[in-house]
Amino acid sequence: MSRDATGEEIKKAYRKLARKLHPDVNTAPGAGDEFKAVTHAYEVLSDPQKRRVYDTTGQENGTDNGYGGGFSGQGFGFQDIFDTFFGGAGGGRGPASRTRRGQDALINVRIDLKDAVFGTNKKIDVETAVVCPTCDGSCCQPGTSPRTCDICHGSGQVQRAVRSILGQVMTTAPCGSCQGFGTVIPDPCHECAGEGRIRSRRTLTIKVPAGVATGTRIQLSGQGEAGTAGGPQGDLYVEIRVNADPVFVRDGDDLHATLTVPMTAAALGTVISMDTFDGAREISIKAGTQSGEITTLKGLGVTHLRGYGRGDLMVHIQVETPQKLDAEQEELLRQLASLRGEEFAEGRVGSGSSTGVFAKLRDRLGNH
Ligand SMILES: [Zn+2]
Ligand SMILES: [Zn+2]
Repeated sequence: MSRDATGEEIKKAYRKLARKLHPDVNTAPGAGDEFKAVTHAYEVLSDPQKRRVYDTTGQENGTDNGYGGGFSGQGFGFQDIFDTFFGGAGGGRGPASRTRRGQDALINVRIDLKDAVFGTNKKIDVETAVVCPTCDGSCCQPGTSPRTCDICHGSGQVQRAVRSILGQVMTTAPCGSCQGFGTVIPDPCHECAGEGRIRSRRTLTIKVPAGVATGTRIQLSGQGEAGTAGGPQGDLYVEIRVNADPVFVRDGDDLHATLTVPMTAAALGTVISMDTFDGAREISIKAGTQSGEITTLKGLGVTHLRGYGRGDLMVHIQVETPQKLDAEQEELLRQLASLRGEEFAEGRVGSGSSTGVFAKLRDRLGNH
């Protein structure tokens, strides 16, 4: 039995001990204290919250200053009480295996927005543990092999007498000579120092699907860290970071951009060529276009990661007022103002203006 003991098993073990130690039946000196100690241990082990603290820290309250510390002064620690309940941690298990699965690895990869729109193949450098090519994960120098441990005769465990609240009891502990493996490696592989794996750098080409965003993780099975002693490899996770683009701002699978047009073009109407991720597109500016108007180019946004199709590209028109006029231009504009009865123009106040939409969007998205 071990730390995995169920509530029912703990209760049974407690009842057995309590019957033996209860002051009503046991008048031996110290039996009262032992009964209290066992009862306290039972309270801890049967309270799921306290149990969790004990299981994760090996200490009551997660510190050395708890009840367990107090017990140590009397010659037994909390672990001893636990062992008393269950006859020693790890009792009855066979030798431990050297082979362990490797850990997962995580690397970050930066891509440009265009690669997120269409997907790409990306070369990445990864450094992980790989199976040692010299010993092929056996941990032994070629031509040698592990031999059975002389101390534990292959069981991986040794018997140990410990003082506990019930006096001297035998518990089992991992064999110190072989670290519980049951075998020793007399001549560890020189390349991997007997670990069965070495660190290695390699280049992988990964397929980044269209539609990924910052934070998307791509899982590559079996490309993580190799395990010890030929254990299977963990997985490799590639986390995507999408670089900010100087022109396009992404919102979900839609893209946004501003197109600045001269005041005269906005008033008279024109066609302007604009570069998109799909090449040049003609944007038709109709006569009388206002700042903040949006032209939507359907299907020129980011490819949907799941499902079919793409988002849209929204082109926000910004009308540019000339900042410098020469004498002739100024004269012409004054004539125009006169013809339009706007020499002494008054502004109109209202809330319907849409000019700030794109600025607000950019703020909200933080330019990612
Ligand atoms: Zn090796
Ligand atoms: Zn041993």
